[in-house]
Amino acid sequence: LRKSARQSARVVAATMNGQRVEVLANVSTRRDVAVAEETGADGIGLYRLEQYYLSRNTPPSTAELLSELNAMFSGFGSKPLTVRLLDLGADKPVSYLNFPVEDDPFLGCRGVRLLLRFPELLDAQLKALLQFGLSREVHVLVPMVTLASEMEEIRKKMCSIAEQEGIRRLPKLGAMIETPAAALGVEEIIKHADFLSIGTNDLTQYTMAAGRENPLVNDYFIEDHPAVLRLIRMVVAEAGDTPVSICGELAGHLNAIPTLVHLGVRTLSVAPPLIPDVKQAIRTISSA
Ligand code: PEP
Ligand code: MG
Repeated sequence: LRKSARQSARVVAATMNGQRVEVLANVSTRRDVAVAEETGADGIGLYRLEQYYLSRNTPPSTAELLSELNAMFSGFGSKPLTVRLLDLGADKPVSYLNFPVEDDPFLGCRGVRLLLRFPELLDAQLKALLQFGLSREVHVLVPMVTLASEMEEIRKKMCSIAEQEGIRRLPKLGAMIETPAAALGVEEIIKHADFLSIGTNDLTQYTMAAGRENPLVNDYFIEDHPAVLRLIRMVVAEAGDTPVSICGELAGHLNAIPTLVHLGVRTLSVAPPLIPDVKQAIRTISSA
């Protein structure tokens, strides 16, 4: 990046009428974090744990997870970090877990559904994140929520582990909104969530009934289809004071950004190389 571009990338972006919009980074690897630092991310909006789990032959212990988190973000200053609980399913099996075999993994036991079936997997993550949260501003994001009760269960788990460990400072807990049921059920979900993050990749797949990795139905996978935008608008409206971010690919589509900001979205989380252009796009939005 040129020096001037680098400097303006480091400042939080605002529209021409002064509305600030945070631009965070989606990361999976240390390299991603380094690029996010370089391109001026205002924080990490989505750390996907899947690559770390898929690269191993055994499930990580709490201590291993904690040291991975520390190594991952030690060079990232004190900016806020959102870590998503593991989002695996039968489409991404790991050798060390006895996954249920499924014909239709995307409609099956993935994300929070899987975590609730493998309590030891969930507990190790929550324990590590509670400890990590003692030294950093950490937010914990729950993947593939469909029922408010899933958030309630995760919150209960987090609170009971915190009590056992004598930890009084709890990370904020957020729900991924990436199923139509979650988008339509925000009113119930926010009773158990401190923030929401809309995953437009899965939300598009489930709304348009078009698999995100299926080239045959690529023409139906329309991330800015009015049906998807209406759900986003509904989520922002129903969320009230609960903060809402967007962390799917749509957040990095420069021509969609004015619409998202007009719908009331104030936080976008995108692939690190896109951050300067996303901030620039925000700065050219002219009216409320
Ligand atoms: C999404 O579904 O939009 C999302 C951000 O999660 P992932 O791409 O990891 O499924
Ligand atoms: Mg998703």
